[in-house]
Amino acid sequence: MKAFTAKEKKDIINEFNDLLKTANVEPKSEEHKVVSKAFKIAYEAHANMRRKSGKPYIYHPIEVARIASHEIGLGTKSIVASLLHDVVEDTDITIEDVERQFGPKIANIVDGLTKISGVFLNRSNMQAENFRKILMTMTDDLRVIIIKLADRLHNMRTLDSMPPNKQLKIAGETLFIYAPLAHRMGLYSLKTELEDLCLKYMHPQEYVEIESLIKETEKKRLTYINRFALPITSRLNDEGFEFEISGRPKSIYSIWNKMETKSVTFEEVFDLFAIRIIFDPKDDIPEKIQCWNIYSIITDMYIPKSDRIRDWVSQPKSNGYEALHSTVMGPGGKWVEVQIRSSRMNEIAERGYAAHWKYKGISQHEGELDRWIKEIREMLEDPKSDAFEFLDEFKLNLFTSEIMVFTPKGEILTLPASATALDFAFFIHSEVGLHAVGAKVNHKLVPLNQKLKAADQIEIITSAKQQPDPNWLKFVTTIKAKSKLKNVSREHRKKITEEGKINLEYLLMELGMPSNSNVFRKLFNHYNTQNKEELYFKIGDKKLDRDTLKKIMKKRSRSKYIKFWGIEKPGTTNAAQKFDKSKPLIVDDNTRNYEIAVCCHPIPGDDVIGYKASDDDIVIHTSSCPKAIELNSRESQHVVKVEWTSQKLLAFLGRITLKGIDDVGIVSDVTSIISKELNVNMRSINFESHDGIFEGLIDVYVHNSNDLNNLIMNIGNIKGVSTVSRQEIKEEPI
Ligand code: MN
Repeated sequence: MKAFTAKEKKDIINEFNDLLKTANVEPKSEEHKVVSKAFKIAYEAHANMRRKSGKPYIYHPIEVARIASHEIGLGTKSIVASLLHDVVEDTDITIEDVERQFGPKIANIVDGLTKISGVFLNRSNMQAENFRKILMTMTDDLRVIIIKLADRLHNMRTLDSMPPNKQLKIAGETLFIYAPLAHRMGLYSLKTELEDLCLKYMHPQEYVEIESLIKETEKKRLTYINRFALPITSRLNDEGFEFEISGRPKSIYSIWNKMETKSVTFEEVFDLFAIRIIFDPKDDIPEKIQCWNIYSIITDMYIPKSDRIRDWVSQPKSNGYEALHSTVMGPGGKWVEVQIRSSRMNEIAERGYAAHWKYKGISQHEGELDRWIKEIREMLEDPKSDAFEFLDEFKLNLFTSEIMVFTPKGEILTLPASATALDFAFFIHSEVGLHAVGAKVNHKLVPLNQKLKAADQIEIITSAKQQPDPNWLKFVTTIKAKSKLKNVSREHRKKITEEGKINLEYLLMELGMPSNSNVFRKLFNHYNTQNKEELYFKIGDKKLDRDTLKKIMKKRSRSKYIKFWGIEKPGTTNAAQKFDKSKPLIVDDNTRNYEIAVCCHPIPGDDVIGYKASDDDIVIHTSSCPKAIELNSRESQHVVKVEWTSQKLLAFLGRITLKGIDDVGIVSDVTSIISKELNVNMRSINFESHDGIFEGLIDVYVHNSNDLNNLIMNIGNIKGVSTVSRQEIKEEPI
């Protein structure tokens, strides 16, 4: 404990005064006295205590009070309770002390807040059915839950200072318990913020990606919304409405959730436009009628989807939500969801029912709250109402993309919905995963590939003798399990590669052969690979013997390119060429240390990439080659950009396919065109014809893709040729 400095003390006082101001606590009022007393007690109780971030602890209760009052709209009692929410749990102050100082009501809330932490901590009690009962018996006053939510929100906002494993745990339970609770209470903006923060810590990469995609697409979205809104705006103006139209911003979490659960792309989610119209109601007309007036104006312009009207104006949702929703056909044939709300309805929607009081005058605050709490309580207690929905939510299947499961000790773990028992094992610890032999789910023995369901309780059975099986990769879904298993198989692969290398080196030595590039080219060809690693692995896997090696060496090497017009430039090997990823590698006549991939047969001028097969060898693939795409994702550190345009000395194999009407002269027409092309050498030609239609394949040597394109164009001009195009060379030349 480091004592507060004078400056820190001053800052704390300022912070508290700021709270009083934002909460509209009148100076010298009775409320002011009570809140100040609570602050003083909390300040002294938490004196010199600090949070993980190093900040004085007292900032936390002040911020919780600010969220409860300013962001949610609770009154003085809640500010007092918020300020005191951690004192009984963390300091010497007792609940009796609180009652003596502040009376039974506040003591009751603080007591509830202390106990509720216990409920949330003791996960074995979290079996869904019990949860609601515990909530209800412990929280006579729903303010307890709301302040608990404010507490959690502040903890989530300051989660950065926690160690990563704590972050995950806290985010997980926030998504599991607190966000649904906030939703249930109608605290939408709080819920949204909680969810976004959870995503940020649970799936940071996706979070950042979606965030930047939103930024990228914002202009497009705004343009569309403007186009949609323009005619509405002018009509509403004519009708004398005071209003605001905005494109409803979807939260990062909700976009992510849609993408996950519906397996759709960002664009597909984002293409669903939604527009919100918030109006200041005219005094003399009921809000409900004004909502329907606006609806009528919009549907004058855009055709509504008749089955998509949601009238929560006549019949508010049980959590207090009011609005009129409709879906209409917007410009460009896009469905647009329109939400119509008065500013009062909007306040309720964003900040919860508590915000409602703002419209009823401050003095009525507490009475209104009591009424609202009573409503929610009744809803929770009535087994026939949609309280069942609430119960269902806590039957843990709220998030279809994720499930919550239990350890034997009753701890909760969040796993993807597709997780298997083995995933769970790896989640516990990679050693548990690697040595797992079976599992017990809800006390029944099951195989490791058993798919888990929400609320399953899982125990993993391990054996020190067990070795991970490569087949396991087929049924694990979590990144952790996959990467661990891949690591293990990578080590296995490394071992085989090493064996293969020794195998080959030994045989070459025995046969008295050098290990030069000529030998390797033949081996590469035989094993259909382009790099030494893979070659060694293949050799190690199948065990190469003397005779086979001899046979391979006797085969004529089919070089992938031939030299023609060929003066070879002497002494220009730049084997030491460095691979700088930021700059494209220039491949020209002076470059010797490269080869052309047999899988895609690129030609200079094609869009290509280079794969660094070894220290001084590079293999060139077309960028669209599946192999290249795989390399790029798997071994991107070995992939370099290549600029490969001017080749004068070497020629490359290209293939043309053509089709047309069979005509006696067609073959000679084609060959004569080819022979006239100075930069092209024909290697082979193959024509087939049936039913008056011919199809041809021509292999030619060219210097670059321009030569090939010219040739294709000229052949295309021949009378009778209907289609002609370059074809990928998949197998060996014809
Ligand atoms: Mn707290």
